[in-house]
Amino acid sequence: MKIHIEPSDACILCMVCVAICPEVFSISGDRILVSGTPWRGEAPEGLEPCIEAASSNCPVDIILLEQDNDEEAPSGG
Ligand code: SF4
Repeated sequence: MKIHIEPSDACILCMVCVAICPEVFSISGDRILVSGTPWRGEAPEGLEPCIEAASSNCPVDIILLEQDNDEEAPSGG
């Protein structure tokens, strides 16, 4: 899953995403880092729930999540 903070100039640096999911989001100056890179990055495996919580709690709703298309076929059933 890819994470984009877009448009980045709408970010109010409220730190909600950082507080909810510090493993993924951090702040550097006036930029939010996603997995260490400014404004966008790849979601680490296993952290999707907290990333989705950060996305849905962003007060300006700019944390966009893009699912990878090449997901493995579901197993079991
Ligand atoms: S929750 Fe949204 S507005 Fe707040 S710092 Fe994160 S991206 Fe910016």
